[in-house]
Amino acid sequence: MNNEPQIILRRGKEESLLRYHPWIFSGAIYGVIGDDPKEGQLVTVLDSERNFAARGHFQHGSIAVRILTFENEAIDVAWWEGRIASACRLRRALGLVDNPSTTCYRLIHGEGDSLPGLVIDIYGRIAVMQAHSMGMYLAREEIARAIRAVCGDAIEAVYDKSSGTLPGQVRTAAIDQYLFGAAVPEPVLENGKKFLVNWERGQKTGFFLDQRDNRALVEHYARGRKVLNTFCYTGGFSVYALQGGATQVDSVDSSQRAVETARENVDLNFGTGALHRAITADAFEYLKTIDDGYGMIILDPPAFAKHHKVLGNALQGYKRLNARAFSQIRPGGILFTFSCSQAVGREQFRQTIFSAAAIAGRQVRILHQLTQPADHPVSIYHPEGEYLKGLVLYVE
Ligand code: SAH
Repeated sequence: MNNEPQIILRRGKEESLLRYHPWIFSGAIYGVIGDDPKEGQLVTVLDSERNFAARGHFQHGSIAVRILTFENEAIDVAWWEGRIASACRLRRALGLVDNPSTTCYRLIHGEGDSLPGLVIDIYGRIAVMQAHSMGMYLAREEIARAIRAVCGDAIEAVYDKSSGTLPGQVRTAAIDQYLFGAAVPEPVLENGKKFLVNWERGQKTGFFLDQRDNRALVEHYARGRKVLNTFCYTGGFSVYALQGGATQVDSVDSSQRAVETARENVDLNFGTGALHRAITADAFEYLKTIDDGYGMIILDPPAFAKHHKVLGNALQGYKRLNARAFSQIRPGGILFTFSCSQAVGREQFRQTIFSAAAIAGRQVRILHQLTQPADHPVSIYHPEGEYLKGLVLYVE
C-alpha cells in the first residue's frame, strides 16, 4: 500500500463515492501524489481534503479507477478470498451450488459482486475467468489461488480467457491459458438439460448463462408451437423449446460453428431424430423468407450498441428486426425479444418494440418483462449493471 500512487479528486467530484458508485472518471482527478500510476496498478483515492476515500485499479481511459474497496484495507490474499467467498455464499443461497440439475452458473459478475472488471463462470468443476480491466488481469494468479482456497476440490481448473475482453491497448499481450489444472470441455446441466460448453473456442466464456430463467419460460410456452430461435448460438432456447413440446424448432445463426453447436446440443438431449433444423443464415435475411408458420419467435441478438455513440443505429436495428418478426408471426404467437446492450435503457427498449409493433400493425400484449438472473446481480449503487432486457409478447 505504501508505494501506491495516490489520486486526489477534484473538489465536488467526491459525491459519487459517497453513493458507493464503483467508478472514478478521468475528469474527476485533480492530481497524483507519487509516480504516475501504470495501467492496472492499485491506487489509493483521496478526496479533495486528502482523506482516504477508496482503493482500486487504475486504467487509462474514461473510467480511470475501478474501485475495489471503500475501506482503508490491503488488497491481499485474504481480501480476494473474502470477496470470492461472499460471491459463493450468494450463489449457495440461490440454490446454484451443489445443485444436481444445474451445474453451471456465474460466480462473479463484476460490479454486481464488488469486483469491477471481473467475470467468472463455473462449468461443472471448471472456472472460466474473463478480465475486462488490466487490473483484474494482473491479479489473475491471486484470483485463481483465491478460487482454489475458497472452492477446494469443487473446482479442478481455472481457465483465463481474457484475450478478447481486455481493453484494446493491452489485449494483444494476453494469452488464454489454464492458471491451474486443465480440463476437456464436457457437458454441463442447466435445469436438467445438457449442454456441451467449449470455453476455449466458444464465444464469451463458452455459454450464455444469463438466459437460464428466460429459457425456462420458453419451455413453458412452447407446447404445440413451431418455434424459430434466431441468434441461437449454442441452441439454449431450442433445447428448452423441444423439451416443452414444440412441434418443430428451427435454430438460426450466422456463425456456422454456432449452428453446429446448437445441433450437437439438441442431439445430446434428444438424439438425432429431434424435430429440429439448424440453419446457417443472417437472421434479418432469414426473417424475410419465412411464412406465417411460426407460433413462437425468439430474437436474442448480440449487443447492437456497445457504446452510447452508436445508440441511434442500434435502436434502428432492434426496430427493424422486431418489426419483421411482428409481421411474420402467426396470430396467437408469442414473441420473446431481448436486448443485451448496456447502452439501451429498459424504457428505450420498450419504446422501440412499441414502434416495431405499430409498424407491423399488430395487436400486442406484454406477458412478461424479463431481465438477467440472480447470479448476475446488480449492485444497487451501480444501476448500469442491469444490461439484459426482454419482453414476452402475445401477438393477436
Ligand atoms: N441466444 C443465445 C445467445 C446469442 S449470442 C443463447 O441463448 O445462448 C448472439 C449470436 O448471434 C451469436 O451466436 C452470433 O453468431 C449471432 N449473430 C450475430 N449476428 C447475426 C446475424 N446477423 N444473423 C444471425 N446470427 C447472428
